[in-house]
Amino acid sequence: MCGVERRNPCEPEFIQAVREFAEDVIPYVAEHPEFREAKILERMTEPDRIVTFRVTWEDDAGQIRANRAWRVQFNNSIGPYKGGLRFHPTVTQSVLKFLGFEQVFKNSLTGLPMGGAKGGANFNPRGKSCREVMRFCQSLMTELHRHVGEDTDVPAGDIGVGSREISYLFGQYKRLKNRFVGVLTGKGLASGGSMIRTEATGYGCVYFCENMLNHRGDSLKGKTCLVSGSGNVAIYTVEKANELGARVVTLSDSSGFIHDPGGIDAEKLQFIKELKEVRRGRISEYADAFSGVTFHEASRPWGVSADVVFPCATHNEINADDAHALLANGVVAVCEGANMPTELDGAKAFREAKILYGPSKAANAGGVAVSGLEQSQNALRLSWTREEVDAKLQAIMQDIHRQCLNYGRTSSDEVDYVSGANVAGFQKVAQAMLSYGVV
Ligand code: NDP
Repeated sequence: MCGVERRNPCEPEFIQAVREFAEDVIPYVAEHPEFREAKILERMTEPDRIVTFRVTWEDDAGQIRANRAWRVQFNNSIGPYKGGLRFHPTVTQSVLKFLGFEQVFKNSLTGLPMGGAKGGANFNPRGKSCREVMRFCQSLMTELHRHVGEDTDVPAGDIGVGSREISYLFGQYKRLKNRFVGVLTGKGLASGGSMIRTEATGYGCVYFCENMLNHRGDSLKGKTCLVSGSGNVAIYTVEKANELGARVVTLSDSSGFIHDPGGIDAEKLQFIKELKEVRRGRISEYADAFSGVTFHEASRPWGVSADVVFPCATHNEINADDAHALLANGVVAVCEGANMPTELDGAKAFREAKILYGPSKAANAGGVAVSGLEQSQNALRLSWTREEVDAKLQAIMQDIHRQCLNYGRTSSDEVDYVSGANVAGFQKVAQAMLSYGVV
């Protein structure tokens, strides 16, 4: 860790992600001298490469704008690089390195042949017209196309990058290369996308939570849930939680959260989809539209009493105080839809309390898993049905749960899902790296 800190000054998010991982993996490596001697951990914490570039574009007023973009190609030991693109003003190299590092082990857990990468730009899509977003995406792809390809690196969406942005990016790739191939995932259904990809991260997260609860002889049915965020992951987490008989009472965005004690049912969720996916409005409008709902400005929902928590907005949204408040209110499961939403001290509190704690690496792997299935369909030039893709997603989430049990079962027959996911994800990548020799 001293070496990681020295080599990566001013990269707190990346150091946090490595620390959380290393604490579980170092004892495992200590028992496997072949990994220690080959310096696998040291090599794994250094990305294969990072490409940084300028994105110049013109806004609707004719002003020239310049943003910075990155692609962090972290590790391709088990397959072509794969990971999302994020457009948000808070994007930095540290954030993308943390996300790329996590992606390596998440992709390993899916059992599909995918390496890990992440990319994005410090571009703020909020308030931009569709034409501005299109020009930005086209300019970004004009450079990015040199570094990606269906057998090299296959980006997808993330915060600020949904099907609209993926379509603009793919349109420009096609124009530049004259090739219709699976170079991006999360495409629209008319342009080579997969059924269930939009829903996959949220659905997968709920399937993982149900697996954890079932293992303890319990289920989501009748449980009160908190969800944060109101983007892609949050929306489809609520949809699947409702289908399994749970009641979700909160959603949020960067302006605050809404509390609806009656539950966000299918009809109200339709309002959210329209609000967020079409009108691109604010969550406070939900409180204006439905009675009995309160809006809490500039706050997060962790003070509300509930059984199950799905953080689905962004990293570091649950600190130690939030974790203790949730535990004091009797929460039995935390299942992470967002990447690294819990700070290290918060995660420690959940693990010590021995509640069911599904870390993002395992719990939100459904999104990239269906992206992998989209790549397979593109390569086969076939489209699977909704039912086929959903069945594969459920099987993959079940298998990730099984791997967590294999590596995370503690002596008292309880499961430490964090440690299980870290070690299970690590060992496959480590074996592959070892087999390549010194590269
Ligand atoms: P979206 O852009 O669709 O939604 C993000 C949501 O989080 C919005 O409601 C946004 O509010 C809120 N949010 C973003 N940043 C902040 C912040 N700093 N503080 C408070 N709220 C914030 O993104 P996704 O739903 O796709 O992604 C959410 C999380 O899930 C991310 O951590 C992402 O990495 C992770 N993830 C996503 C996958 C996917 O398939 N999309 C796959 C695996 C993980 P506002 O609109 O106000 O900014």
